[in-house]
Amino acid sequence: MNTLRTDVVIVGGGMAGLTAASYLAQAGVAVTLFEKASKLGGRAATSLHDGYAFNRGIHALYTGDSAEDVLRELGIAYNGHSPKAIHIFYQGKLYPFPTGFSSLLNNRLFDIGDKLELMRMFTTLPRLKAQDFARMSVQEWIERTLKRTRTRQFMTTFASTNVYSAALDQVSAEVLVHKLQLSLKHPVLYIDGGWQTLVDGLRAKAEQAGARIVSGTRVEAVEYQDGQVQGVRLRNGSVVQASAAILATTPTEAVKLVDGGSYEPLRSIVDALIPAQVACLDVALRRLPDPSHAVVQDMERPRFFSTQSLYARVAPEGGALIHALKLLDFAHPTDPREDERDLENLLDSVQPDWRDELVKRIYLPRIEAIGMLPTTSAGGYAGRPTPIVPGITHLYLAGDWIGAGFLADPSLSSARQVARMLLQDEVFRARKGDAIMEKSM
Ligand SMILES: Cc1cc2nc3c(=O)[nH]c(=O)nc-3n(C[C@H](O)[C@H](O)[C@H](O)COP(=O)(O)OP(=O)(O)OC[C@H]3O[C@@H](n4cnc5c(N)ncnc54)[C@H](O)[C@@H]3O)c2cc1C
Repeated sequence: MNTLRTDVVIVGGGMAGLTAASYLAQAGVAVTLFEKASKLGGRAATSLHDGYAFNRGIHALYTGDSAEDVLRELGIAYNGHSPKAIHIFYQGKLYPFPTGFSSLLNNRLFDIGDKLELMRMFTTLPRLKAQDFARMSVQEWIERTLKRTRTRQFMTTFASTNVYSAALDQVSAEVLVHKLQLSLKHPVLYIDGGWQTLVDGLRAKAEQAGARIVSGTRVEAVEYQDGQVQGVRLRNGSVVQASAAILATTPTEAVKLVDGGSYEPLRSIVDALIPAQVACLDVALRRLPDPSHAVVQDMERPRFFSTQSLYARVAPEGGALIHALKLLDFAHPTDPREDERDLENLLDSVQPDWRDELVKRIYLPRIEAIGMLPTTSAGGYAGRPTPIVPGITHLYLAGDWIGAGFLADPSLSSARQVARMLLQDEVFRARKGDAIMEKSM
């Protein structure tokens, strides 16, 4: 049996694992990252088919928060473009989405009373403190803020898209208020080349700084003794000795790595989490049947689609790549085949003839958009797990289920937080000194 040695071992080569590897390697710590898949990126990976860059379901970079901050700090280059001309689909008709006061005033979907109510909501929104709504559900927030039937209906489906869930009676309104406040001030970006551009950028930074990145290798278990990490065991039986380990996986994958899933302090954290699963239908088309209705929010059901190729370089010249999304409610399970038909029907209604133009389709019936939904019962962002695994020194967690924030923001910020915690630890401060001395010799 082989035994290898590194300072820090990272399990998982998604955005979180690669971010932690970049920070630690840049600080001179010896890092080895293992990814079980043959390709890096996890849920942020992009697959190429005939020149179409398929993200794993619809992905946009919500700027103004920690993901953008970490990418800037690490010097990751990307080009992003904001979607424009969004439409609302209501009772078989399409209406422009109100993106400002003039588009709201001229909107034929809403009457004057609706418009005044929405204006009040959007003017009040920037002054709210998102954390004040941590224990209020999105549904309650909508009911308190809006009294009119149509404005409530509009906000219900729009809120579902924003919080990646149709369980609005459970999701904390802190998420919605925080996300709406961000998007009022900061652009939402589709990335040229898909999110693989970010993944590849992070990988390059980590490797340039000396991190060892090994894909196609599954970590089987964390090895620890007397409450201290000793390393990890790989599927092939080899042991990699390390002074610290970072589990940058989904919660269900993380829990299995410690005592085969029976380590109670981690098990109890993970058992309490509710992930947000969504249904995604991604279609590559030779051409877009109706370019004037390329981004659509359904107002009657929690469905949304966006033709990202109109804004970002993710399709060959003239081709179109559409990502359609249905938000689900974990308390009311649906049939994945019906969800697929639901998404197809939305495309049939808004982009007739899309089937005649089809190059490739990918249906992801249940993919985890968020490892942990911030719920009212958990107290919103404050109720999310921290990076520390109780009872095992130098075992850390990173990912979209750790710390405050939503989607990829906590994924990147928890990874940075773990790297900072390790670099402040005297064991790694000493290592950092050694590594710097070795380099200068
Ligand atoms: C449909 C969808 C839409 C989304 N939209 C957005 C969006 O618009 N904006 C946004 O900011 N975020 C979005 N996200 C969220 C974003 O993709 C995730 O937050 C982010 O990619 C999570 O990265 P991660 O590294 O935390 O986890 P993951 O990507 O899940 O990475 C974990 C990695 O660990 C590996 N692994 C697991 N177990 C082991 C093991 N035992 N050994 C070795 N490797 C292992 C896995 O293979 C995986 O590669 C979306 C996600 C989905 C699914």
